[in-house]
Amino acid sequence: MARYTDSVCKQCRREGMKLFLKGERCTSPKCAIERRAYAPGMHGRSGQFGRKTSDYGMQLREKQRACRIYGVMERQFRRYYELALRSRGLTGANLMSILERRLDNVVYRLGFADSRAQARQLVLHGHFDLSGRKTNIPSALVKAGDVIEVRESKKQNGYFRDLQEVLEHHSLPEWLSLDAGQMRGTVLALPTREQIDVPLTEQLIVEFYSR
Ligand code: SF4
Repeated sequence: MARYTDSVCKQCRREGMKLFLKGERCTSPKCAIERRAYAPGMHGRSGQFGRKTSDYGMQLREKQRACRIYGVMERQFRRYYELALRSRGLTGANLMSILERRLDNVVYRLGFADSRAQARQLVLHGHFDLSGRKTNIPSALVKAGDVIEVRESKKQNGYFRDLQEVLEHHSLPEWLSLDAGQMRGTVLALPTREQIDVPLTEQLIVEFYSR
């Protein structure tokens, strides 16, 4: 399976914004974009952020940002776009809802991980049941009523024990609920665009694929 293997902080510097890919570090002074607010590479300092960009350039950048925020490669992202296009309603809003419904994102939103990348690892290592069945597929799409729970055999491991207190104070999006004691989250409804606090202009992504 293809995976991005370069420094993740370079992705933020390339996009000229914080994508919050590294959990706690992203809100600390160690954040690379706080220290080097210019694009990576030899010509990075010559002002990528201030340069005038074409319409195509803006659409491409927005699509890349979405891929990077959710940790999705191009081919799968296009599949999500096609699914969004076939669904009822606004394609851009549908696309955002589909991305949010990925199991790794839901694990992150529930507070079981402090970045989507860490959530992806936890899912891959089989730490969760999805509606009663062990699932190790980060791209599985949850639906309303689904229950995401740390597997019984994993609840006593050090990582999840230490997490208990953090979960008590974790703030959730409206479309999810969490029983911190049981380490169990429920999908109350499918997320709407207004409930997704990701700073993307999805219309640009739709324009990118409709060219
Ligand atoms: Fe991006 Fe986080 Fe790295 Fe900062 S620390 S550059 S927000 S991934």
